[in-house]
Amino acid sequence: MGLKKILVDAIPAPLVRLFAAPYVSGDSIEAAVATADRVHRERGLLSTIDMLGESIETPEDARRCRDRYLEILEHIRDRPHCTVSLKPTSMGLKQGTRPTLENIEAVVRRARELGRGVTIDMEDRSTVDATLEIYRTLRAQYDNVGTVLQSKLLRTHDDVERLSDVGGRFRICLGAYPEPAEVAYRSKPRMKEALYELALRMLELGYYVELATHDEALLDRILVEAERRRVPKDRFEIQWLLGVPVMRMRDKYARQGVRMRLYVPYCDDWSHATRYLKRRLLLNPSLMTYVLGNLVLRGR
Ligand SMILES: Cc1cc2nc3c(=O)[nH]c(=O)nc-3n(C[C@H](O)[C@H](O)[C@H](O)COP(=O)(O)OP(=O)(O)OC[C@H]3O[C@@H](n4cnc5c(N)ncnc54)[C@H](O)[C@@H]3O)c2cc1C
Repeated sequence: MGLKKILVDAIPAPLVRLFAAPYVSGDSIEAAVATADRVHRERGLLSTIDMLGESIETPEDARRCRDRYLEILEHIRDRPHCTVSLKPTSMGLKQGTRPTLENIEAVVRRARELGRGVTIDMEDRSTVDATLEIYRTLRAQYDNVGTVLQSKLLRTHDDVERLSDVGGRFRICLGAYPEPAEVAYRSKPRMKEALYELALRMLELGYYVELATHDEALLDRILVEAERRRVPKDRFEIQWLLGVPVMRMRDKYARQGVRMRLYVPYCDDWSHATRYLKRRLLLNPSLMTYVLGNLVLRGR
């Protein structure tokens, strides 16, 4: 990982920005909403809009971020195909759990008034306890809030059981942050096996489950087993990142009547998009080839 990180860090920002084209919807709320409308109209996909904004330094930064989310909500008030996703650190987690809870609650409260959902993204392992505590507190009052669990973390098996008293809506994904072997599976096949086990257990416990993976074989396995267990289709959905090619899967799952949602990031500040893209590149260096191919094809 060391050398890979050094190489990815060395890529100049303008080049990363070039790579960003397929993965980031643009640099305004309007661009994100336009993308969400387009994929809904043309491909029948739902969206969750995310503002890229990490490393919030001060309580004022966090409140500004909260206010931007309140603005996004006004833009999607008449768009039932949209929800929002937000990162706890962008709402002030580095400054403490209490102010973060207050900022996120303001967004969740307004979203509920407008009939929209909010998902609290999960970041690295140091944030998991606080994020789940915030989710737990909010979920007791607001049924429109959900959060994320990462299958690579060993603790997630216990978290799934512990959360059964509050229940609710959970995105399950591998986890995008590098974690040490003491707390996480290091092999991708093992993370995927864990995602399979966790997704089925979450369905069993009655959670609404958001299957966030681009691995078609894994999705197929989960869907076949869910069907065998007669889990109704309104108890789960599939989620993908904007920019990852999923056309064939999308058509297949649409025919099966499965609900699908795209994660649609936009940035107010391109330096945030650069960080997001570098994280994606680190996870998947083959992305570079894919994006270059995409740019060449577009150029034709
Ligand atoms: C909707 C959504 C929300 C997420 N939210 C969070 C979160 O809150 N916290 C968190 O830690 N992580 C989050 N993630 C990231 C997640 O944890 C994984 O890091 C990421 O999804 C890659 O894992 P994968 O299951 O798709 O498997 P992979 O094995 O990485 O991907 C499967 C296949 O998909 C294709 N693929 C995957 N990514 C790309 C790409 N970018 N470009 C082209 N092809 C690609 C490749 O062909 C690859 O072989 C989210 C992912 C999604 C889809």
